[in-house]
Amino acid sequence: MAYTYDSENIFAKILRGEIPNKTVLETEHTLAFLDIQPQAPTHILVIPKGPYVCFDHFAQEASEPEITDYVRAIGEICKAEGLEENGFRLIANAGREGVQDVPHLHVHILAGRVLGPMLARAK
Ligand code: 5GP
Repeated sequence: MAYTYDSENIFAKILRGEIPNKTVLETEHTLAFLDIQPQAPTHILVIPKGPYVCFDHFAQEASEPEITDYVRAIGEICKAEGLEENGFRLIANAGREGVQDVPHLHVHILAGRVLGPMLARAK
């Protein structure tokens, strides 16, 4: 499948500086910032600077330096936030069934409370 990147998505606008963000970490290929509607005491979004729609797009087409930078940035944030002590959850929603709202790859780093079951149970 060919991935089509919409350069008007909200995270593209954040990367272009058109919308403000509360930056946690910025590296050559990666930006991490606070989620605007936090669902846990720690809720950080980590995005690559490149135009990747979702995790599988990134995994298939990003360069080795981009992938290394992204994964290392996540590790750096976990360390800086002290998340190894009590744990955390890393979520990457993708596509319609994954209920991805913003079509630019992002992982959510959630921590600071017991996060409950991985998925809401079907009624
Ligand atoms: P998704 O459902 O795509 O996995 O998650 C998108 C996330 O982006 C949501 O948690 C939402 O709160 C966050 N978000 C949406 N718009 C903005 C924004 O303008 N700024 C920030 N910092 N987060 C946003």
